[in-house]
Amino acid sequence: MQLTKQQDSFILFAKANVSAHGAQMGAGMENRMEIYNSLTKKVEPFVPNEDGKVKMYTCGPTVYHFAHIGNLRSYIMEDLLEKTLRYLGYDVKRVMNITDVGHLSGDSDDGEDKMLKGARREHKTVMEIAGFYTDAFFEDCKKLHIKRPDVVEPATGCIEEFIHMVQTLLEKGFAYEMGGNVYFDTSKLANYHVFSGQTEEELLVGVREDVEEDSNKKNKSDFVLWFTKSKFDAQELKWESPWGMGYPGWHIECSCISIKHLGEYMDIHCGGVDNIFPHHTNEIAQSEAYLGHKWCNYWFHVHHLNDQTGKMSKSKGEFLTVSLLEEKGYNPLAYRLFCLQSHYRKPLMFSYEALSNMETAYNKLVNKIAGLREEGEIEQDKFEAYQKRFADALCDDLNSSMAITVLYDMLKEDMTDRTKRELAKSFEEVLSLGLFAVRKEEEDPELVAYVLKRIEERTAAKKAKDFKTADAIRDELSAKGIILEDTREGVKWKKA
Ligand code: AMP
Ligand code: ZN
Repeated sequence: MQLTKQQDSFILFAKANVSAHGAQMGAGMENRMEIYNSLTKKVEPFVPNEDGKVKMYTCGPTVYHFAHIGNLRSYIMEDLLEKTLRYLGYDVKRVMNITDVGHLSGDSDDGEDKMLKGARREHKTVMEIAGFYTDAFFEDCKKLHIKRPDVVEPATGCIEEFIHMVQTLLEKGFAYEMGGNVYFDTSKLANYHVFSGQTEEELLVGVREDVEEDSNKKNKSDFVLWFTKSKFDAQELKWESPWGMGYPGWHIECSCISIKHLGEYMDIHCGGVDNIFPHHTNEIAQSEAYLGHKWCNYWFHVHHLNDQTGKMSKSKGEFLTVSLLEEKGYNPLAYRLFCLQSHYRKPLMFSYEALSNMETAYNKLVNKIAGLREEGEIEQDKFEAYQKRFADALCDDLNSSMAITVLYDMLKEDMTDRTKRELAKSFEEVLSLGLFAVRKEEEDPELVAYVLKRIEERTAAKKAKDFKTADAIRDELSAKGIILEDTREGVKWKKA
């Protein structure tokens, strides 16, 4: 790997956008995407380093358990970003890591090793756990129409690169060995807290009392690059290194894997908001110290999916997975629509009631599109006007709910069915809602419309305590081969 000459003021690079080639957008591609950048805390025009090309990195899952639908909210919105960029004509290369080593339950090098915890829970080896949950993650992604990134790299496949980076950081004076571990020395940076602009002292306010301090650290915010002697003697995965048998810290993997596949300059880095500190802060620290220049211009962070207890997580509240939603009778793509209807920078509150309403809306939408006939000519002016409105919505800091409003407006517009079908196909490239995949029981839009109408009437009858009418509607539908099921989340139906 080629290193550029070290410069004096690391992380100060983060203040102004750099362009590796000083490139402007080429003719033929309109650069009109605007996106919120967590680094500058502003919505900014998106200008990649290389003309027409986007280098994008996503922090992948820690594969010690199934992904919950909160994790998947982040991946749905990142998928939307990637597809929007492709829709605008960019050639996107997207890389994702798989965290199969080094992630502790506390993000600041405290707590249990997550992979070990998973292996103990299931009486399996760490690699068995990693393999199983990596496959499960991509199965969930498939159900949610999340595209697999161009490169997917497990952390355990890059140990040599991690060692090389740690060694370089030691040589450059940004790291030190203490008590057998190697630490990054944050005091060597002009501005370690690039995202918050906070000082060390400010950040200490509110630090959890129960986080045990690692007495090896020279500064409170230093973090582990390589563990050898640590509390995890039982660590299954260990590798030879210049510092003894050990394993990498969590943050180093994303720096190495992204530089390995995307080179020294990256355009946009994605993750959930909880990744901002310490994970992304530490990634910037070590990558820029290693490279000697600014590394990534745009940082895209998705806000959390919450439930009644707060941020959805794997360790508290109901552990909501895609399979669980399916067991309860929901179509995973209704969940995708639920996510797209809300802006990625706003927290999103999950409830079954909201999802049920979204599923009803989803079914109506899909049936409306299924009812469009291959008739008439394409009305070019209207086609282009709607395509522009759709792209404009997404270019406005990824306003996905506005993009869906454009879809609804388009379906109501007075124009040929063929124009509408072609527009829906075009929007589907980005939305990926399965707009043209009608479920078996929904193949007949007239039947669907009728069943939905009768369900509404039955619900109204029940509300008015007219149980005779409600039962009669159920019996009538049953005679037509339609089974109704009253669930906590609303009425569901299927063909017998
Ligand atoms: P993990 O598997 O814990 O490494 O997390 C995978 C991704 O999910 C990361 O980008 C996290 O920031 C993100 N994430 C975790 N919890 C949530 C949540 N409740 N809502 C949205 N994204 C989340
Ligand atoms: Zn990461």
